[in-house]
Amino acid sequence: MVTSRRGLAAIATLLAASTLTLRSQPADPPTIRVGIFSGPSTRPSEGPGSLRGGFVVRSMPLEEYVAGVVAGEAFPNSGAAALEALAITVRTYAVANRGRHRADGFDLCDQTHCQALRKPTAATSLAATATAGRILTDRGGAAEVFYSAACGGHTERPSEVWPGAVDPPFLPARRDEADEGEPAWDADLDASDLGRALRAAGYRGELRDLIVVARNESARVSRLRLAGLTPSEISGADFRLVVARTLGPLLIKSAAFEVRRTAQGFHFSGHGFGHGVGLCVLGSLRLAARGESAEDILGLYFRGLTVSPLSAPARSPTPSAAPSATRSPTPSAAPSPAPSPTRSATPSAAPSGITVLLPESERGERERLGEAAASARDRLAGELGVMRPAQLSLRFHPTLESYEHATGRAWFTSGATIGSELHFPPLPVLRERGILDRAIRHELVHALIDPALTGRPMWVREGAALYFSRDSTQPERPAGRVKCPSDRELQQPSSPGELSIAYGRAAACFDNRLGSGRSWRQIER
Ligand SMILES: [Zn+2]
Ligand SMILES: [Zn+2]
Repeated sequence: MVTSRRGLAAIATLLAASTLTLRSQPADPPTIRVGIFSGPSTRPSEGPGSLRGGFVVRSMPLEEYVAGVVAGEAFPNSGAAALEALAITVRTYAVANRGRHRADGFDLCDQTHCQALRKPTAATSLAATATAGRILTDRGGAAEVFYSAACGGHTERPSEVWPGAVDPPFLPARRDEADEGEPAWDADLDASDLGRALRAAGYRGELRDLIVVARNESARVSRLRLAGLTPSEISGADFRLVVARTLGPLLIKSAAFEVRRTAQGFHFSGHGFGHGVGLCVLGSLRLAARGESAEDILGLYFRGLTVSPLSAPARSPTPSAAPSATRSPTPSAAPSPAPSPTRSATPSAAPSGITVLLPESERGERERLGEAAASARDRLAGELGVMRPAQLSLRFHPTLESYEHATGRAWFTSGATIGSELHFPPLPVLRERGILDRAIRHELVHALIDPALTGRPMWVREGAALYFSRDSTQPERPAGRVKCPSDRELQQPSSPGELSIAYGRAAACFDNRLGSGRSWRQIER
């Protein structure tokens, strides 16, 4: 149940056009529009750049960006070859994922969600200069590369971290002698804290025990049983995300762990830091120290890829591109991003104008969801007096990570409408939260009314979505004067509690205006 980003989508279309223009003029030095996170309390203020949803947009030359990211992602005291290998990987990532934040008005953010950016050092600037303009290529275009801080002695395949991801031949799961299984880590989690984190993610019940049910080829936890909770299983990657989001990022550093019950809760011991896919930053530091060159290091972690000048012909569009995500090696709360869910879903172009995209394992639900959405759409369009859109797609993401990655919204939100695409957390999560039908109606309202409400404060759109998606079992909200929430409060809640307070105020403000006799189209015009 989250804010629509239709307004931003319109801006994005313009920006996408300008990006294309840039690309068609290779004579210009390439630049990257970076979203510098300015924190929830920052106001639009001095300095170049514009503020959009807590990010100040700054255009910077690609090589300056690369030097800054290498500073943000490398370990201190890395040798020149390690920094150069990372510089090429970082540049490749930037080129392959440029426009990942198109909907936010920039290319890449400076957080671990994309690549962490710091002030360049002399060594990292040198690494950028020494490798300037060179990227890893795959079939003539920038390869979809990944890297993580420490693979713990074994690299990982993308699909083990992001369900449904394509596993290209250059990203196998393999032993990595260079990493030597470091860092080893331990964590003790209180049973009540862990229960709280899992409940916040939509799991219900009292957590009695944690049992590793399955490990993948790299010995990382692939499935974990949550005894006493419903749903009763979670993937290792989602478990890391859930713990990081509520309890902090430095506890469960990787999915390569053992767990045992203690008097107070659970003891974890593991090794590695990050998802382990692609280049291992710690391993490459060791390899460089042994005298390996940047090319040797890249050849080891990205077998079969070639390093080519950036001016190589643009990548041919592939409908099933590999996941566009990496993970910073710096300690961080950000979960490993996930690939677009479309790959794991089978679209059904229905004559009703509703396409439902679901993970393959839930395909049985498609028809019912499509019919329910079509009838809700028709009823809402009638009630609101708007045209029904020709085509809408509902995407139920396979994991919370995938949902967050595609929408930029926090895992505890219940949906996001981007243009004619309605994104949702996994179906079982919405069911557990008991809000599946309401979440669908809420996003349908956004798809129907947001175009008419462009430019209004966000609480108008959210208030309308809450009002019109209500079902008869929900009590009317008590009227009364409330302060309408700011866009920031709705857009960047730091917790489920904050979000629900902001939504409550949005709904009350909307109800008050509607109660004074205005139609939804006139509110705050
Ligand atoms: Zn909403
Ligand atoms: Zn990002």
